[in-house]
Amino acid sequence: MDLHSLTDRMSGRAPEYDASGKFPEEDFADLRELGLLGLMVPRRLGGSGATFAEYTDVAMRLGSGAGATALIFNMHASVTGALAHTPDELVRQFGAPESFFASRDRVLAAAAEGALYAVAMSERGTGSRLSKVRTSYERTGSGFRITGAKTFVSGAGHADAYLVAARDSTSEEPKVSYFLVPAGPGVEVVPTWDSLGMRATASHDLRIDAEVGEDALVGGIEGAALLLAQVMPQWLVASYAAVYVGVAQAVLRHGAEHLRERGLHTLPMVRARMGRADNQVTAAELVVRKAADLVTEDPGNPETNRWVWRAKLTAGDTAADVAFSVLEAAGASATRRGHPLERLYRDARCGALQPATSDVCADWLGASALGDNPDETARW
Ligand SMILES: Cc1cc2nc3c(=O)[nH]c(=O)nc-3n(C[C@H](O)[C@H](O)[C@H](O)COP(=O)(O)OP(=O)(O)OC[C@H]3O[C@@H](n4cnc5c(N)ncnc54)[C@H](O)[C@@H]3O)c2cc1C
Repeated sequence: MDLHSLTDRMSGRAPEYDASGKFPEEDFADLRELGLLGLMVPRRLGGSGATFAEYTDVAMRLGSGAGATALIFNMHASVTGALAHTPDELVRQFGAPESFFASRDRVLAAAAEGALYAVAMSERGTGSRLSKVRTSYERTGSGFRITGAKTFVSGAGHADAYLVAARDSTSEEPKVSYFLVPAGPGVEVVPTWDSLGMRATASHDLRIDAEVGEDALVGGIEGAALLLAQVMPQWLVASYAAVYVGVAQAVLRHGAEHLRERGLHTLPMVRARMGRADNQVTAAELVVRKAADLVTEDPGNPETNRWVWRAKLTAGDTAADVAFSVLEAAGASATRRGHPLERLYRDARCGALQPATSDVCADWLGASALGDNPDETARW
């Protein structure tokens, strides 16, 4: 099996997983078999050592097969990619202890062996605003106790560990840290997920009351979450962008199929809608690939970061726009449950809503275009 046939298999299974809203087990068995859970893991630890540009290419293809699977994969790639790509010198500058490097390598090596990681950042009432998280932690003799509740956790119940954002319960300032909390005792999945789109992400709630060791503190330092979001925004802001370009590409593919089958493809209005959609998707792909190349070559540079925000805005808006327009061209028969365009319409709607939302991206880019510092406004 190669990536191309995997994408076909995922596309064939997507309707059933969408209908049931269940975690796509078979897709993940295939991803494991292809070694894709180790995509971002350095070669020395058994992975493929992919760059951000290579991740983008894979995520786009997976997204064109099954958006929900690609989104869960994106969360895993964000955890492993951020760990693998943050330079050792930078982590040392932040004050990480030497013991951090061994625990990081263990986490990455486990991913290369097939471990799956999920992200538990969002909370009910505060969304993805890191500075507002209410899940908290306190020091114990041997590590930390983390208590709180999370929502929208893609892959909940199927991950081996969760990247949990939590605040220091003793600090007045929002001192927010990341912990990698193993699945098991102290992490309870609350089956709440029944949503409009990306239904097969199994993004259930979590209730957490867990004790973890020192090495669960990601980066080995407390209070780094907000700073990392600002200096290296790619994993938080733009890694979904590739997924939604893939979803938009699937809209074109299934749209063309439907329009030909129904003999609608010769109508000038229908052709014009497909032409515009093709143009928008191609443009979005170029923006997302450009951002990914810059992240690969020059991460953290202000110009790179501008492209990161552009990529998220372009991909989120494009997916929603083309899904709307192609569905209109396809007609009411494509709105029947089970039609690929009906599912893609719902999936595509989610891109602009995921953080940073399209409105937040546009505000960031607007401030930058007006010569202001877009990071002066608190985004997280
Ligand atoms: C399919 C799917 C999968 C997801 N998977 C995960 C996951 O695995 N892990 C996870 O942690 N979360 C996940 N999320 C959650 C998601 O990333 C957001 O955290 C969540 O959508 C925020 O929810 P909210 O309803 O509070 O909306 P908000 O994002 O808070 O948005 C509400 C409104 O406030 C605006 N807004 C938000 N932030 C700002 C700001 N900084 N400045 C100005 N305006 C702002 C928005 O534009 C919007 O108009 C997922 C979401 C979806 C849809």
